[in-house]
Amino acid sequence: MQGAPHNIDDFVERLQKNKPKLARIDKITRKVITSPVMLETPFEIKASIHSQANTGVMADAATCDACLSDIFSPKNRRYRYPFTNCTHCGPRLSIIRGIPYDREQTSMAKFSMCKLCQQEYDDVFNRRFHAQPNACPECGPQYWLTDHKGKKVEVDDILSTTAAYLQAGKIVAIKGIGSFHLAVLASHSDAVSRLRALKKRPSKPLALMAENISMIKSFCTVSSQEQSLLQSVAAPIVLLNKKTPCTLPENIAPKQKVLGFMLPYSPLHHLLLDLIAEPIVLTSANISQEPPCIRNEEALEKLTQIADYFLLHNRDIENRIDDSIVRIIGGKTQLIRRARGYAPQSIILPEGFETASNILALGGELKNTFCLIKKGQAIISQHMGDLENYATYCDFQHNLFLYEKLFQHSIKHLVADAHPEYISNKVGQEMAEKHQLTLVKVQHHHAHVASCLAENNYGLNKADVLAVVLDGLGFGDDDTLWGGEFLLANYEKYTRLASLKPVALLGASKAMREPWRNLYAHLQACMLRDSVFHQYQSLDIIKKLTQKPLKTMDAMLMKNINTPIASSAGRLFDAVAAALDICFDHIEYEGQAAIALEAEITAEVWDDAAHSAYPFTLESNIIDPCSMWEALFKDLASNTPAAIISTRFHKGLSLAIVQQLCILAKDKKLKTVVLSGGVFQNKTLLEAVKNNLEKQGFCVLTHHNIPANDGGLSLGQAIVAAAKIMRKNTCV
Ligand code: ZN
Ligand code: ZN
Ligand code: FE
Repeated sequence: MQGAPHNIDDFVERLQKNKPKLARIDKITRKVITSPVMLETPFEIKASIHSQANTGVMADAATCDACLSDIFSPKNRRYRYPFTNCTHCGPRLSIIRGIPYDREQTSMAKFSMCKLCQQEYDDVFNRRFHAQPNACPECGPQYWLTDHKGKKVEVDDILSTTAAYLQAGKIVAIKGIGSFHLAVLASHSDAVSRLRALKKRPSKPLALMAENISMIKSFCTVSSQEQSLLQSVAAPIVLLNKKTPCTLPENIAPKQKVLGFMLPYSPLHHLLLDLIAEPIVLTSANISQEPPCIRNEEALEKLTQIADYFLLHNRDIENRIDDSIVRIIGGKTQLIRRARGYAPQSIILPEGFETASNILALGGELKNTFCLIKKGQAIISQHMGDLENYATYCDFQHNLFLYEKLFQHSIKHLVADAHPEYISNKVGQEMAEKHQLTLVKVQHHHAHVASCLAENNYGLNKADVLAVVLDGLGFGDDDTLWGGEFLLANYEKYTRLASLKPVALLGASKAMREPWRNLYAHLQACMLRDSVFHQYQSLDIIKKLTQKPLKTMDAMLMKNINTPIASSAGRLFDAVAAALDICFDHIEYEGQAAIALEAEITAEVWDDAAHSAYPFTLESNIIDPCSMWEALFKDLASNTPAAIISTRFHKGLSLAIVQQLCILAKDKKLKTVVLSGGVFQNKTLLEAVKNNLEKQGFCVLTHHNIPANDGGLSLGQAIVAAAKIMRKNTCV
């Protein structure tokens, strides 16, 4: 375009500010034309010519304001129609089967548009121009209500009846955008308990949905940033601080300081919540560890013992996508689960990776995602879950096939975690054999570091960084398990410089589920067992511990049977939580003990300098918690409140991390530090470490758009492989 410089500046500015909600500008390139083009006609927007346009596939988007106004306007033809959408909103990835993205390739194919819908679809000036899922009550999907046996409930008003069921404390399975949910009235404590009992989910927090922000504000504090996240087109679950007192029942999120709230993101949610006028629990509709149901028949079969009623519809969910979970830490977004609303949005890779070849990285074992690299971009799949579950594994295979098709990705290189027992690793080996490709293996914690570097746009050729990766477990390059690592790293290589003290996992994988095992292992590793048992024998926790089969544990340790060692930060948190009897016998999900331990801390106790850090010993690049344990048991013996013990532990560990980093940085003269791994989802620990490091002049890189947990591994694996391959190619 041509014009006066200030007009052009204004245009570029407005282009960025006023772009449509779903648009993303990756790059604006400006070139000055030296002489004006004569007789150029005024600025025009023309309809695109349909060709092989590389439009990609969009993430599902929450209902836009214009569609909302349609469904609540009695005179509108879409009044109270739950499948209303337009080009600015509606289902995308959840309904697609292939490319190009047009109606025939989605689950909308079976509905042919009525005359009015077709007119909207064809009209370039209409909000529904080429909106593939466009529909109205005349021509689009329909919904109905059934009892728990699938028998239709004949009523005049389905949504009012559903609302009444919920208000009466019933459990309703609701088919949503990316999966089914189970809903109960949030204020109905008995209904929440019943849902928990039937779902066999005693303590994992349940997500909530409220009609609007002001309703959420009556239970939680909501900052302006949190508000815009809630109202964003991704409409994720946002973890918010609970107000005290909070009138919602404690059993929604036992022992938690935060509640996960989301706003309605489909017309159905809006219409239903409008009738209820209070929050509902809206949790994924699954049994045991399986992913949530997506098909009507599947839901009716699997959830018949849980749900009293089913709100079903006939727009098929082609691809399962869970709700995303986000939190604001230190004024910045931190994605915890990246799924609906975010996947399959691509990420532009940092400088130096523009020519990276086509890569498929298969991710980790838990919280699995996979990642494709193509044309300098990374496409990360939605969170799928734990691959050891067969249904999740099937989802993983389904999505691998789907993404390859959607993004026309032909794999040149395959990447997996180095852990020989990971299912993703085995899948990688099979695929490598089948396609005659080599499988690049990337160490777990190196992948964590690389994912953090990549999302912080850290260039390929920039200086090495120091990294602290704290997580549950990952396979180390010395064949032991790691999880509290200090690495010197770049994209291509890493060196392990220091770690937490390795401690046995009593009963291997059992140690991940039973925190008391880690407490006992720590006491044994610190040679404190006898003194602690003797000195503190009157403590309840010691009495409780001695009830456990400790002789068997000792024999296992002595004979080295099923007791692999691990420098795991996650297991250290489990051990401390067990000592405080917060989570002792059993935990339901990974990270539960650490979350409960962090939740004990109060702002008053934390800010009180009298509650000093527990001591850790730093020797030969090993952080040893023995002195911490001695101080902790002294506190326990003097009936010190859990808030103080947890505070002193968090302060102690963060200080030890910073001190260890300072020692390493001095040797290596490094100024950039990466913090990664699932344990850094602990807000208290992350902020304490980060603030302290920044005070000492370090530049600290943390996670924002990619999870710090194993959900981010696939990006890290992909980019490490890309760096290695590029180096190899330039060396040849
Ligand atoms: Zn819309
Ligand atoms: Zn229609
Ligand atoms: Fe990890």
